[in-house]
Amino acid sequence: MRFDILTLFPEQIDAVLGESIIGRAQKSGVISVFTHNIRDYTENKHKKVDDAPYGGGRGMLMATQPICDCFDAVSKMQGEGKSRVIYMSPRGRIFNHSIAKELSEYDNLTILCGHYEGIDQRVIDEIVDEEISIGDYVLTGGELPACILVDAVSRLIDGVLSDESCYEDESIASGLLEYPQYTRPAVFRGKEVPEVLLSGHHANIEAWRLERSIELTRERRPDLYDAYIKIHPPKSKVK
Ligand code: SAM
Repeated sequence: MRFDILTLFPEQIDAVLGESIIGRAQKSGVISVFTHNIRDYTENKHKKVDDAPYGGGRGMLMATQPICDCFDAVSKMQGEGKSRVIYMSPRGRIFNHSIAKELSEYDNLTILCGHYEGIDQRVIDEIVDEEISIGDYVLTGGELPACILVDAVSRLIDGVLSDESCYEDESIASGLLEYPQYTRPAVFRGKEVPEVLLSGHHANIEAWRLERSIELTRERRPDLYDAYIKIHPPKSKVK
């Protein structure tokens, strides 16, 4: 899968996505992430990429020409296949696991990062398929949201994680929040690891984990719990 990120701050994205699992996935060629500096495409002799909004108001807006020319150049670099153009924006659909799953089916994802007060609406109308928000708060730029989207989508692509079950068993993807996990030592500052986890009895361990997951989900995310219970109604006790 190929990601193309259009931004005024490519170094910020390269620093985040060049590390750890996503960095390794890029090196191994399972995914490719290309950042494109919108400023490189400006025709303005002072390299200006923003301007004041028509109608007045505070702040500056990213202007049409550099973004659209950058987009045209990037489109020519992409190969065949299913493509989607996303603008990271607080006005967009709120990102979650099912959107990540949906996006993981594409061959090319182009992600536009805004800055300042955002971008000229005509750019959105002309090139963007969808606006996506990472939550109900406002950040200074779309770079961190783009990194979050690329990370979440990439982990769903075969070959990025070492084992597919890594994400299928996890919080949210499984429909429940994850149970508590422990590693060595068995006792730390007087706190013991639950005995069942040391028993080696796999069926009991699985049952304990499922119970803890259900309990945590009921406490913290009643919305997820209700959806889970609809699909897995509790077994009525045999009298
Ligand atoms: N004036 C805009 C508004 O009220 O909707 C906010 C602009 S924000 C300061 C600058 C840029 O950060 C946006 O263009 C967008 O790309 C990005 N951004 C900020 N918050 C975001 C969020 N929650 N999700 C995705 N992108 C976000």
